[in-house]
Amino acid sequence: MDGKPKKTRQRNRPRNKANRLKEDNGQTSNSELNNTEGVVLNIVGQQKALINECVNENYGALTKTTPSGSELPTQSPQDSDNGLRLLQQMMRTKLLQQGKKSEKGNVDTKATEKVDKKGQKSSASLSKGKESGKTTNGKAAADNLQKQSAFVASLQRKLESSVANGSTDLPNTLLENLQKLLHEGPISDVESSDDEEDYIEYIYRPRQYFLVALCNLCKDELTAETKTACKRCKLAYYCSGQHMKGDEQHRQICYALQQVADNCGGQIFRKCGEFTAEQFRSYRIVIIRQIESIINRPLTATEQEVVLFPRICCNTSCREYDFRKLVDCENCGQVAYCRDKPEHFNKSHQDWCKSYQLFKKLELMQAKGGKIDPAMPMKILHDIPGACSNTKQILSKLDCAIQDDCEFSALSQISTCPLTAWYALKLCGHLKKSEEITIHLIGAEIEFEVDALHKWELFFLHINPNTKKLNVVFVGPELNQSNMPFEQLAKTKCCRSCRKTQRVVSYRFQNQLYHDYFNLPTFMTPDLICFFNAGLYRYNGFQMEDTWPETIRIATNIKCPIVVTSYTAYEAPLDISRLIQESSRRINVIMPPTLNPFASKKPERNFISDEEAPLMFKNYYCFLVE
Ligand SMILES: [Zn+2]
Ligand SMILES: [Zn+2]
Ligand SMILES: [Zn+2]
Ligand SMILES: [Zn+2]
Ligand SMILES: [Zn+2]
Repeated sequence: MDGKPKKTRQRNRPRNKANRLKEDNGQTSNSELNNTEGVVLNIVGQQKALINECVNENYGALTKTTPSGSELPTQSPQDSDNGLRLLQQMMRTKLLQQGKKSEKGNVDTKATEKVDKKGQKSSASLSKGKESGKTTNGKAAADNLQKQSAFVASLQRKLESSVANGSTDLPNTLLENLQKLLHEGPISDVESSDDEEDYIEYIYRPRQYFLVALCNLCKDELTAETKTACKRCKLAYYCSGQHMKGDEQHRQICYALQQVADNCGGQIFRKCGEFTAEQFRSYRIVIIRQIESIINRPLTATEQEVVLFPRICCNTSCREYDFRKLVDCENCGQVAYCRDKPEHFNKSHQDWCKSYQLFKKLELMQAKGGKIDPAMPMKILHDIPGACSNTKQILSKLDCAIQDDCEFSALSQISTCPLTAWYALKLCGHLKKSEEITIHLIGAEIEFEVDALHKWELFFLHINPNTKKLNVVFVGPELNQSNMPFEQLAKTKCCRSCRKTQRVVSYRFQNQLYHDYFNLPTFMTPDLICFFNAGLYRYNGFQMEDTWPETIRIATNIKCPIVVTSYTAYEAPLDISRLIQESSRRINVIMPPTLNPFASKKPERNFISDEEAPLMFKNYYCFLVE
């Protein structure tokens, strides 16, 4: 307001109390990062956590030595069956480890005590925080472990039958969970609020990404002149020979990459030009397994990306791997093609280049300055902003000055759920009449829908003047895998103005399947049901069981509007036909699958269907039925 250019605020590590505690103890930031990464996998969800752990084991193991995997046989890289067997072995190892884990009960905690009014963080309150965390874990953790073991067993059975049937492709669920892992951050915290009230804020932190356009060590942007391929593996890139030599973290995986390459006749991606998209996906996962068995530890998500998103020719029937024969798209630097075959530069890349550039810019900013933490709009509207038809217009109505596209993408990621819900109710004409609105979020993800919880106040209650009370109910069996202190989160209070006018947002967390919640006496009848990025069309839902039919039947029988979103345009028609197919009544389509004007603008790399869309966005497509 004073005319000075405001810099995009970023959240730095030291702001977090848990981190500070570890720093105080003199632990290295590395092991801290890895430990916290392990924690987030638990947050992601039971089923996801487990597969991720199988894919990724526990990051905490980085600093220790794990006996697992030492007896793994060496693989022929082209043999996906072997890949499956390898996975099975990892599952078994996982089961054994779980046995050990439950003895120790060493589930980490992220619950921290609130900061006292003056912001003093005494060591006493820190240790208290630690202890109180422990007590919340005990029994629930044991329950979780039991469920997890059962899940691993069922997953293993499916893998076995898959191998027996001669299937060569890896199970979809595995791919999907890997996909999740790829764009989910390793570090997330429950942070004390600055408010004097006793509540806890959940903050999700993005991890670092591997990009061929950035120096693997300093994260500086690379140009055609500065770009130096790692001498050994030729998969990591640096701004200088010095940074190549100085990247100690890369060294271990680098040797393993070379070893795998030697087994493949010198180059890991030598024969990939012949692969279908599906085979190429499976192949990269098998390579990751091999590297892990060589170095005897799981790769971090960032390390996996060295193999998952390598610099090769983007033409899928070419996939040239020799870095000397490649040039990059000069705008985004993340897509390469053959220097002497310019026709290999995919025309469709034009549609994605801008998003690739933004992806790089976001990663650059976060690598240098921590999580982008945009200033949130605090304005309360007195009329429904009926003329606003996209995120930008709403933000400007809320007097939210956006500095750049990075800040905008961060704000769009935060606001997309409340705004999409608001938009859906507006389309059905349900906004005006309701003093109290109840929204159900089915299959909610803690690090997405729950991140920055007060967004439901700022981007729903504040733009909907007729509503006095907003009830947000998060429902899903994967909701609370890491024993989030939901009772504390539910205490999140509205701003002063709302409190004065007795407007409230109440949050509920239902850690169960929707039809189980439906049968509870505490069930609140919804005005809107949201399936955000739920993938209704997939047949491998919770614990490999397809639970969608019953959930869809119950949800559609409630006869309230239902909004469904998806990451890509390709998924939306599949989702809607599944919904119609599983419903026991005639469904009235209010809005067919359409680009969502309130979608997130934050790009994520797509691994499981990159042939359809190399990048994807939360709530990208949506449809509305009643
Ligand atoms: Zn560098
Ligand atoms: Zn290397
Ligand atoms: Zn090519
Ligand atoms: Zn480009
Ligand atoms: Zn408010």
